[in-house]
Amino acid sequence: MTTSAPARERIPFIMRDLAARYLPAGDLHEGETALAKIVAEREDPFLVLISTILSQRTRDEMTERASRQLFAKYDTPEAIANADPANLVRLIQPVGFYRQKALQIQNVSRVLLDQYRGTVPGTYEELIALPQVGPKTANCVLVYGFGEPRIPTDTHVHRVSNRLGLVRTKTPEKTEQRLMKTVPKEFWLHINELFIRFGKDICRPIGPRCEACSFTSFCRYYRTVFAPKRRRLDQDRRKRSPGTKASRSMASK
Ligand code: SF4
Repeated sequence: MTTSAPARERIPFIMRDLAARYLPAGDLHEGETALAKIVAEREDPFLVLISTILSQRTRDEMTERASRQLFAKYDTPEAIANADPANLVRLIQPVGFYRQKALQIQNVSRVLLDQYRGTVPGTYEELIALPQVGPKTANCVLVYGFGEPRIPTDTHVHRVSNRLGLVRTKTPEKTEQRLMKTVPKEFWLHINELFIRFGKDICRPIGPRCEACSFTSFCRYYRTVFAPKRRRLDQDRRKRSPGTKASRSMASK
C-alpha cells in the first residue's frame, strides 16, 4: 500500500491491522479504554453517559478511577440526582473540572428523571438535546451504551486520522463528519476504541513511534514530517562526525 492509495482502500487495511493488535476477538467488551471496561462490567447506557461527561478534557486513566469511585456509591439517575453535591465532588476528584462536572452529572440525571423516567434515550437527536452532551458524548453513548455504529471523535481519533491522511481537518467535529463519509459503516463501531489505543500506544501526540508502525508506506505525517526530520538529523550527525571512508560508505547504504 502506498501514498497513492485512496483513503477508502487504506481504511480496511488500517482497521484490520489495528483490530488484530488491539481487539483480536472483535469484541468491544475486550477493549482497554475506560468506557469499554465499564461496559464490559455492566451494560448500562447511563454509566456510559456519566463516564463520558467525566472524560471531557481528562486522561482515560483518571476517568476510569473517578467513574469507579462514583459508581461504587451512586450508579443510577435517582442516586446521583439526590446525592449531596460535596460527595459527588469528592468522588470524582481525579478528573479535571470536577466541581463543574459534579453539577453537570447531577443536572443531566435530573433531566433524565424528568423527561425520560430515568432512562437514557437511544437516538442521537435526543441525546444531543441533553445538557452537557455534544456530538462526541452522544456518539460514545450510542457506540458503547447501545452498540450502534457511530464515530465518536476525540483528540486521538482526530490526530490519527489526519496523520494517516484519511482526512485533512482542523477540528474533531469536522473529522467526524469527514470520517462518516469515508469510512465504511462496518468499521464504525470499533474505530474509536482502535484509534484511541493506537494513539496512546504508537501514534502518540508527541514523539510518535513510527519505527513500530505498520503504516509508514502511506502515512502522510511520516512522509512529510517524520522521515524528512530524521534525514536532516542523520545528515547533521554525519557532518559532526564524518568518520572513516568505510563508515561513510556504510552510512550511505
Ligand atoms: S507512521 Fe508514525 S505518524 Fe504515521 S500513523 Fe504510524 S506512528 Fe503515526
